[in-house]
Amino acid sequence: MNVLVINCGSSSLKFQLINSDTEAVLAKGLCERIGIDGRLTYQPAGGEKEVNELAMPTHTEAIQFVIDALTNEKTGVVKSLDEIGAVGHRLVHGGEKFASSVVITEEVKKAVEECNDLAPLHNPANLIGVNACEKLMPGTPMVAVFDTAFHQTMPEKAYMYGLPYEYYEKYKVRRYGFHGTSHSFVSKRAAELVGVPYDQTKTIVCHLGNGASVSAVLNGKSVDTSMGLTPLEGLVMGTRSGDIDPAILEFIAKKENLDIEGLMNMLNKKSGVFGLSNNLSSDFRDLLEASEAGNGPAKIAIEVFCYRVAKYVGAYVAAMNGVDNIVFTAGIGENSVPVREKVCSYFGYLGVTIDKEANAKRGEEIVISTPDSKVKVLVIPTNEELAIARETVALI
Ligand code: AMP
Repeated sequence: MNVLVINCGSSSLKFQLINSDTEAVLAKGLCERIGIDGRLTYQPAGGEKEVNELAMPTHTEAIQFVIDALTNEKTGVVKSLDEIGAVGHRLVHGGEKFASSVVITEEVKKAVEECNDLAPLHNPANLIGVNACEKLMPGTPMVAVFDTAFHQTMPEKAYMYGLPYEYYEKYKVRRYGFHGTSHSFVSKRAAELVGVPYDQTKTIVCHLGNGASVSAVLNGKSVDTSMGLTPLEGLVMGTRSGDIDPAILEFIAKKENLDIEGLMNMLNKKSGVFGLSNNLSSDFRDLLEASEAGNGPAKIAIEVFCYRVAKYVGAYVAAMNGVDNIVFTAGIGENSVPVREKVCSYFGYLGVTIDKEANAKRGEEIVISTPDSKVKVLVIPTNEELAIARETVALI
């Protein structure tokens, strides 16, 4: 069966058409600038990438263009919509309502809407994508795959904040965690690769991309993760601060005359390695190059990033009373050899030793620890779209 995987943002929409039998990507692409003007990037497997400026006043037009591209006589990959058996939607926040993926119904959409407060930038946009697909593909089953669902197994002691309990009762303020599809996919794959049962192993996943999070997966279940109520908590990220002393906010607000919106903008968009590097870049390729050329702030940004990852790993070793596998994934985790080397340099106490030659590889599934290392360290490329397609097929 062919599954259309949709990841819909407020002004953009990423898609992949995946054959769930062979798990091959038949075509993929991106709609950008929805509601502004509109641009469709489309690439069939083995074919040329096409970019077309197309008017997309709403997501409905965007999805219509995606369908047109997929069914186009020359460059399309299916003859008609009948060849698309299901749609899998990435939804960001399922709150406490969704601990797993679900087939989308009116009731589900209402429950997702009730979580909008928790992800005001993402959930409404995700739902717009669902509604647009329903309009254009009536009768095609749709599945919601939540970023938060995998972490719903966290125990209370890991998800409660040290705040007045009434905020949890009234507003559900707690840790939810994100990147769940990736943490689940990668931790499962790690168990397969090292040949141990998933439900009998301790894994720490370092999902290091522009957004970054670490998770502790004990016997196949997430027991802790670094992102919180929102994706701002935890690691130092591309432009997000991660953990800070909350009292800094009052201090900076007064000094810089910032209101809540200004503070949130600073924390989300101007901080992280971008802010630390004195606004040089949020991209690790730029930072590593600058650092090698002697740029002080770039070097500090990389040091702080790696140290924070290592601290979270240490915390999760404590949480699980040990670790069997440490996995690196996402843009930086899959590709940045020096970042992996630096993070692993903190793991001597775990008996971790890294095979330099294996660690020099990029973007492929590989064990980078030596055979005698007490903990296995792996690089596993994440594939959230494939995970969504699998979940979708499993449910319909
Ligand atoms: P993601 O959010 O998972 O797409 O990851 C994006 C980030 O991965 C970029 O911002 C880069 O910092 C990083 N990245 C991608 N390729 C490389 C590379 N070859 N070396 C270092 N970092 C990379």
